[in-house]
Amino acid sequence: MSKYPEPTICAADQGLVLRFWGVRGSTPVSGPQYAEFGGSTPCIEVRCGERMFVVDAGSGIYNLGQGHRTDLPRDVDLLFTHLHLDHTAGLPFFKPAVLDADRVINTYCGNLGGESAGPTLDRLFAPPLFPVTLDKLCCTFNHHGFEAGQTLTFPDGSRVDTILLNHPQGSVGYRFEHGGRRLCLISDIEHSDPWPDPELARFVAGADLMVYDGMFTDGEYPTCRGWGHSTWQKGVELAQTAGVKALAIIHLHPAHSDTALRDMEADLQAEMPTAFIARESQSITVGAPRSVSRRAGSRPTVAREVRRRIKVA
Ligand SMILES: [Zn+2]
Ligand SMILES: [Zn+2]
Repeated sequence: MSKYPEPTICAADQGLVLRFWGVRGSTPVSGPQYAEFGGSTPCIEVRCGERMFVVDAGSGIYNLGQGHRTDLPRDVDLLFTHLHLDHTAGLPFFKPAVLDADRVINTYCGNLGGESAGPTLDRLFAPPLFPVTLDKLCCTFNHHGFEAGQTLTFPDGSRVDTILLNHPQGSVGYRFEHGGRRLCLISDIEHSDPWPDPELARFVAGADLMVYDGMFTDGEYPTCRGWGHSTWQKGVELAQTAGVKALAIIHLHPAHSDTALRDMEADLQAEMPTAFIARESQSITVGAPRSVSRRAGSRPTVAREVRRRIKVA
């Protein structure tokens, strides 16, 4: 399965745009049964006009690097939801960015009580677990810690709101606003009882698009309680309570094949017609009348054609 997307060119402000470079949870998978939704672990590109953010460094960040070989900004802001392996293991393979001496990669970590990702990543990427340490790579890393709930403010004036999510060791939800549009990324999270959580509902209220952890179905959840993940049904409940206009499900279970996910998507859209299950390499212009699916190297499928007709907002 070829996955070398064409470079994305953002010469002008195209609004609030995200691209899913990895949507699989827990561990990467491969094989023909994953051809449509993809097997890479979480990595999402967010564009606020020309301003780029990268959320998470799962194995999908390899393809992000390949897709932006020529147009990546010198300073890359990498926002971690948290540091579990499926969200960090791709970082040394973020090529060619990490091999560029002029590149600065700023990481942001908000689930460790203010501690940055630096000490954890230094433990992870070190012998014998990994042959080289991050400081041996050509780029410069600057690791920033914050406490989830704070608003991140960047030197160019950009702001990103955050919230702490219920997950082992915590996870950070992000809210991006640009051009009158609002995008919320809510993964990894286990829903609470009662649900929806009022603070979270306020955080995502009125979002044009919410990306949500739907690793399990409601039927599967009872045997996976306490594992830190949620269901698409709980995503719909949160979206409908909070007036969220469209919903994308990510952190897909490694055992959920394309066939299973297409069936799940049909059930999802019966409950919320503007909802869909995210596909690797898919690009979404938040609030645009139509979403755009650009999975390089693959043919359109019936399901994808249906997806194109869904209004995102
Ligand atoms: Zn995860
Ligand atoms: Zn996790």
